[in-house]
Parts: sequence; structure tokens; C-alpha cells
Amino acid sequence: MKTFDSITLVNGKVLKLFGGQKHRNNNTIRYFCEHANFFYEHQDTIFDNSRMFLAPVYLNGDCIYTLGGLLEWWKHMPQMATLKNEGVTYYIIAVSSSCSKGFITVTMSGEVKEFPFLSDYADRTRSLDEHCCRYSKVARDFEHLSLKNVYDTVASLAKQREEERKIEKIWSPYRDNIELLYKHREEILTHKDWAMAAIPLKVYMVQLPIHIGTMLKLWANEDKWLTHPCVCGHRAFIYSFAGSPLSGTTSISYKCVHCHKQGNAQVDGFLCRAHTLAVTQQELSKEAEGIEAITLKEIIDNLKRTN
Ligand SMILES: [Zn+2]
Repeated sequence: MKTFDSITLVNGKVLKLFGGQKHRNNNTIRYFCEHANFFYEHQDTIFDNSRMFLAPVYLNGDCIYTLGGLLEWWKHMPQMATLKNEGVTYYIIAVSSSCSKGFITVTMSGEVKEFPFLSDYADRTRSLDEHCCRYSKVARDFEHLSLKNVYDTVASLAKQREEERKIEKIWSPYRDNIELLYKHREEILTHKDWAMAAIPLKVYMVQLPIHIGTMLKLWANEDKWLTHPCVCGHRAFIYSFAGSPLSGTTSISYKCVHCHKQGNAQVDGFLCRAHTLAVTQQELSKEAEGIEAITLKEIIDNLKRTN
């Protein structure tokens, strides 16, 4: 079995260490304080990767206080790592150098404050050093990002997740209710205002919005361009596709209402698929001219209420 260098966090998680570039850090403690709330909020992401976990925040003699080390200390030893004053929580980040037996702290709103002469100074200092020093050696020897890099990486990950959540919210009412919509296709196609309900699919050259009625018609006819052979022997419904009009290469997403298999595939014939969709869409639009469509959500609610 291949072994690798690793660290084990307090929560038991093992992080792989990387032997690459170590970023130079300037003014990291100030940067850390300015973004303390952000790092605190995204600690789970930081606890997932040693390059982020080992980003140095503060150097105390031989001991490196790393980003993950500090956040972990706050999380697991709050009685040592935090101070309460007038209802505000202050998180210790370092031993004070300007006043004896005191600490530098930060609040979640980025306020930096020194607390001098604490009676349990020795216990707190020991706890901080013990906790943070366990990562000092690896922070020195292995790859890590700068705090700024960590911030940018986490921010872009969070943005990406938010985008994915938005897309999922748009697609799930349609994709997750294909069985229900198909089961009630006659009813939907009879009510033109239902048939005209928009689905989130967008296809190059096809007029938008694309209507649920268009898909139901093509699926019911097992149209060869809007269905895909399923492993169960039936034809699965293509509910989304995108491709290149030049090469014809098409990525499809499909769902089988018989065996409930859902999948993606690479196929060809993009123009035939787009053309088929456009023609059926036009026919339906003509039949329903002047009728105002309801939303897909309203159809689903109606169906769920009455069935
Ligand atoms: Zn199937």
C-alpha cells in the first residue's frame, strides 16, 4: 500500500500533505483579523485540505500558529480560546507582546483588542502553544497557501456552490417530476395553458421558452431524437441536451420512467434533435396561440393536490 505524509486533525480527519511550494506571507496576522469571520464561517472547508489548514498566521518563536490550528483551537477549546466581555466573544490569536500576561484577540466583526493581566494566563498560553505547535513542523516542511490564497480559493468555491444550488433549484421541479408529468400527459396536453408551461431547457436555434407539452408529445411518441435506449429495454426520455451544430456531438441527460434510471451520455445528431424539438414546439405554439401559460410548479402542485 502506498503511504503518504499526513496530519490527523482533532476531529479524526486525516489530511494528506503536499511537498510543493510554500507561499511567502507578509502581514498575515492583520489579514487574518480582517477576515476572521470569513475564515471562521468556512472552517469546514479549511479543515478539508492541508494546503489551507497549514497557512501560517503567526510566528511565536519556533511555533507556527496555522490557520487550521487556530480555528481548531477555537472550536475545541473555547473555554481557553475565547474571552467574553459585555456580551461579545473575543477569540485569542496570540500572546500579547506589548503587555505582560495578556493576549491579542479578535471579534467576528474584525475588532482587535488586547486583554492584559489575565489570572489564567499560564493555562491559556499552554493550551494555545500545545495546540498550535503540533502543526508547526509540518507547516514548515510541507506545502501551504498564503492566507490571501486561502481566502480567494474558499470564496470561489463558495460562489461555485451557490451557482450550483441556483441551477439545481431551477432544474429540480422539472427533472424530479418527469414521472408525474408523463403520467398525466393527457391532462397536461388537454389544458393548453398547462402544456405551454416553460421548462428550464435552452437549446441553440430553438425558440424559448421550451414548453413541457413539447417534451411530453415527443416522449409519448418515443421520438428517436428525444429518447435514448435504456438498459431495461425501454426508451428513456431525454430531458436535457446541448451540443455542437458543427460536429453534431451532443451531451444528453435522460431518465427512464420504467426502471427510473437516470444518466448522461454522449451521442450525435445535434441538429436533428434541435430541429425535431423546434418543429414540435412550433405546432404546439400554434395550437395554443394567445393562451397564457401557467408555471411548471403550478402544474405539479395541481397534480399533487388532485391525485
Ligand atoms: Zn429503463
